[in-house]
Formats: sequence, C-alpha cells, structure tokens
Amino acid sequence: MTHSFDALIVGGGAAGLMCAITAGKRGRRVAVLERADRVGKKILISGGGRCNFTNLHCHPDNFISANPHFARSALSRYTPADFIELVEKYHIPYHEKTLGQLFCDRSANDILAMLLEECRLARVSIFLGTRISEVTRSDDFVVRTDNAEFRAPVLAAASGGLSIPKIGATSFGYDLARQFGIKIQEPRPGLVPFVLNGKDRSELCDLAGVSMEVTAASDGQQFREKMLITHRGLSGPAILQVSSYWNPTRPVKIDLAPEREIVAELLQQKTPRTVQSLRSRVRELLPNRFADRWIELHPPSGWTNSALEDWEKEVHAWVIAPAGTEGFDKAEVTVGGVDTDELSAKTMEARRVPGLFFIGEVVDVTGHLGGYNFQWAWASGRAAGEAL
Ligand SMILES: Cc1cc2nc3c(=O)[nH]c(=O)nc-3n(C[C@H](O)[C@H](O)[C@H](O)COP(=O)(O)OP(=O)(O)OC[C@H]3O[C@@H](n4cnc5c(N)ncnc54)[C@H](O)[C@@H]3O)c2cc1C
Repeated sequence: MTHSFDALIVGGGAAGLMCAITAGKRGRRVAVLERADRVGKKILISGGGRCNFTNLHCHPDNFISANPHFARSALSRYTPADFIELVEKYHIPYHEKTLGQLFCDRSANDILAMLLEECRLARVSIFLGTRISEVTRSDDFVVRTDNAEFRAPVLAAASGGLSIPKIGATSFGYDLARQFGIKIQEPRPGLVPFVLNGKDRSELCDLAGVSMEVTAASDGQQFREKMLITHRGLSGPAILQVSSYWNPTRPVKIDLAPEREIVAELLQQKTPRTVQSLRSRVRELLPNRFADRWIELHPPSGWTNSALEDWEKEVHAWVIAPAGTEGFDKAEVTVGGVDTDELSAKTMEARRVPGLFFIGEVVDVTGHLGGYNFQWAWASGRAAGEAL
C-alpha cells in the first residue's frame, strides 16, 4: 500500500511532534512515522515523570555544539515564553523547581496530551510501530516499511539520539545522514554518571547515597550543583553537566567545599590542632560520613599552617580520572550528531540535500541539564515545520 503526503517526519518525540503540528497548521498533509507503540515515550519519563519542559533562562551558551552559534536562530524564533504560552492555553499547572527549570505539577502526560491534541487539530497522521527498511529518493522521498510505502517531497529526521536504547533509541538519523553523504560529529553519551576507577570506587562507593554541593570542572567548564555518590561512581546534576564536556584524556576537578574556608578557623583558634578538631570542622561543611572518609584517606601531612593550607587546597581541587561513564544506557542525551555545518540554521534543511531536514537531538546541539534539551527540540521542530 502506498501513502502519499506533503511531508514525512520520522520519529514522534518532542521535535517530531512540534514539527508536525507546525507544518500541519500551515495546511501541509503530514505523516509522523514512529517505530514504538506510542509517541513521546521520552517525554513521559522525562524530569522524573514531571517533564522539565523548558528553562526560563535559556541562552545559546547552555548548548554544546561544534558550532556554538548554530542554535541561536531557531532558539530566538521559538522561545521558552512561546512554549509556556501553549502550556497555559491548555491550563497545565506547572512550577519553577530551581534555576529557571519549569516542571509539570501533575505529570509529563499533560505535555504529551497537549501535543497530541495539537496534532489532532493540525490533522497530523500518526503511524505507530513502523519498521523502516529503506529510504530512497527519486523525485519524492520514499520510505519503505514492512507492509507499506510512504512518499513525500520532504522528509524530516526526528529520530533522536542513542540514549536509552531500551525505550527505542535507534541510529536511524545518523544512518540516513551518512546515506546522503552528510557529515556527523561522533555521537557520545552526555548528561551521564561517571564510573570511578577501581581505587576510588573501593574507597568511596560504600558511601552510595551521600550527596553534597560541589563545583565540578572539566575542559574549561564548571558547574556548581549537587554531586551524588553511587554504587559505581558519581552522579548528581554537577557531575551530569560536566560529563557532557568530559574528555577521557583529561581529569575532572571537584571543589568539595566551594567558596568555603575550612582551616582558617582552626589556624586562628588556640584549640589544639588534632584529627578530632579537623574532623569536627569538616563535618560542619560536608556530610559526616564523607567528611570522616575524606580525612581517613587524605590525612594532613602535618599540623603547621602551611601543611593545613596545603591540605585545604586538595579539598578544593580533588582530581579524579573516571574509568568511563555509564554509557548510552544511562545517558540522558547524546552529544554530537548531524554536523551543523551541513544544515541551514534557519530551517534545519540539509544544504546538500534539499527537502531533507534534521531536528531535535539527532543534530549536533546538546543542551545542559534543566529543560534546555526540550527547548531545542521545540525550537528546531518549529523552525523545520515552518519550512517544510
Ligand atoms: C530519562 C531522561 C529524562 C530526561 N528529562 C529531560 C527533561 O526533564 N528536560 C529536558 O529538556 N530534557 C530531558 N531529557 C532529554 C530529552 O528527553 C531529549 O533531548 C528529547 O526528548 C529529544 O527529543 P527528540 O524528539 O529529538 O528525540 P526523542 O524524544 O528521543 O524522540 C525520537 C523518537 O523517534 C523514534 N524513533 C527512533 N528511531 C526510529 C526509527 N528508526 N523509525 C521510527 N521512529 C524512530 C523514537 O521511538 C522516539 O519516539 C531526558 C532524557 C532522558 C533519557
């Protein structure tokens, strides 16, 4: 059976649905081809089930890309305020959790239900469980599945990145790009916990569950947020953020007590300088179990002013060399993807292949933690939807 449309969109996630709604409202006959048994699965699991759908402080600096300017155009034409307007039109209750991050009060399903209603109003056709075996191009793009053929003059790849394969991530978008000779920035896991090397793991991971505010830094970027010790390594927002920038050949530096002085008090007091007095001071600043372990593993080399000052320096610059990350199984996003030099920043259309668009996470634009990845999905989906 052959289905003909004005536009085909592969992938019914955040970017694909927004693109379909935008194009559908412009009168285009749009088909969304989704591999899973329902659309928007990642929306449903996002933000711990409450979907951190945007960030009030969205700025191009919150995105990683080989070309840091690429995202500007789309982001400026569809802003957090635009998405909030849509959310409010549907009377979806939401709140700011922290740092401009907006979450649903009830559940992520509110966002998905809103997008599906918008799809219905825009007369978007959604095909679920589509297994694409081949994409070819003559005059039209032809997408072949197990039991049907879809044709349209334009096609948007909105199939997302490689993270969380168990809910349906595939390499479709990258494979399609390669098929048409479009370059890729090597995909790697981002917003992902670190696995510690054997020594650090044996020394620290029995403290799994302990968390504290730190500044984590790697490759010239630093983030002051919470760090969490896990059974295999380190996680928490500060670590997830820095993981997206991590270069495995370089260490990660962690300030365990940002902007806090530890030994200054001890140096001024007349009380004896002992392990006990140091421990009680560190316990004021760090969780007790971590404070005790840190002093056990890193005792001061002496009790002179300079020995204590050197000891403090290490607390502010703990250097770790992770063994790796938890990989795509646990990564919230994929860093890298379709090279932005290949795409129009205005429309997301491939420069060398007119009619072929790439949107959302499959593109080499990756947001920080905090609602930025959805904002990119909405903005890039919107930009393509206005053009295809
Ligand atoms: C656990 C978790 C929590 C997250 N929480 C947040 C958050 O709170 N805020 C935030 O901003 N970001 C969050 N993210 C990131 C965010 O979910 C993604 O960046 C965003 O969903 C990307 O949208 P997308 O449409 O590009 O891709 P996706 O949402 O991944 O959608 C791609 C779609 O394409 C389909 N597909 C894949 N291959 C094929 C194929 N071959 N044929 C047909 N269909 C295919 C998939 O089934 C999927 O439906 C989270 C990610 C994870 C994993």
